[in-house]
Amino acid sequence: MIKFKKTLFFIIFFYCENIFSNDLLEIRSGHNNSEYRIVFELKDEIKYRKEIKLKSLKLLFDSSDIIENLSKFKKIHNVSDINFDKAENSITLLFNKKINSKNLFSIKKNKQNKNFRIVFDYTVEKFKKKIVIIDAGHGGKDSGAVGTSKILEKNVTLSVAKRFAQKCNKENHFKCLLTRNGDYFLNLRQRVKFARQHKGDVFISLHADFHPKKNIRGVSIYTLSEKASDKEAEALARRENKSDLIDGLDLSEESKEVRNILIDLTQRETMNRSTVYVMELINQFKTNTKLLKRAHRFAGFAVLKAPDIPSVLLEMGYLSNKNDAKLLTSEIYQKKIVENIYIATLKYFNK
Ligand SMILES: [Zn+2]
Repeated sequence: MIKFKKTLFFIIFFYCENIFSNDLLEIRSGHNNSEYRIVFELKDEIKYRKEIKLKSLKLLFDSSDIIENLSKFKKIHNVSDINFDKAENSITLLFNKKINSKNLFSIKKNKQNKNFRIVFDYTVEKFKKKIVIIDAGHGGKDSGAVGTSKILEKNVTLSVAKRFAQKCNKENHFKCLLTRNGDYFLNLRQRVKFARQHKGDVFISLHADFHPKKNIRGVSIYTLSEKASDKEAEALARRENKSDLIDGLDLSEESKEVRNILIDLTQRETMNRSTVYVMELINQFKTNTKLLKRAHRFAGFAVLKAPDIPSVLLEMGYLSNKNDAKLLTSEIYQKKIVENIYIATLKYFNK
């Protein structure tokens, strides 16, 4: 057995010698959860310098001819490419993820270690799935808009929300949580609280609008603003905010509080991100659905007031319009809306 081991050692030794007529014998890697280690095995001790960046590790060696074609090296965790520079005598490992907690050290040759080792310890950020909060507008004693043939807004919004959750579970790109899962009342503050408690990455409130002019139809998307973009937007915000009045809550105090929050930079940054999100949504919706003329509008919706979560309110169409009402209750159109939100959300997260 001992003889066999010795023979094997010499075979490996000569094999390495043949391929690399230099000092670098091996680069190997291992990991324990999100902690990774890369080991450079070198035949002899060597002086080197290091350059560690967000996504790369460079070793610059003092000795000349240490660099060889190491393409035969095994795959190294998280490393997408290895570059060799003969001129500066360096090896660069390019990572496909951001690396953290970097620690580089060497281990000298001793009785146990026949080789000189350079060890690089690092961690990568654990992948966390993004969370999408879907808020089916209205519910319970608050039916929202009542459309032609007595279609209730609260039922349309819940149906689309449930379809979206189904799609999320199936595709599994991000996690999806519904503020309500049945026909019950939630005030606007509870919806925002839910989004914040569950650390939502985006918040989408689903609605269907009503207009006395029965010919008006199309999709529009709202973000929060102190000043409404027009009288209609203001009137809509008043209608939607009525949910809290139904619950007997006083909004006047909240708006003072919100005004303070609005000054906060977090809020401004969130509003910017909401705008980026709306742009993705509009770009997607305009490919296959009818939009209102100015599809992105602004108003003081209470449900969009989470200071740290990009939030949008989607008016999926008009229940007062015959065409829209028919579409909004059809499976095909509801699935189209779900698909559009899904694609736009993916694009937003990938930015
Ligand atoms: Zn509504």
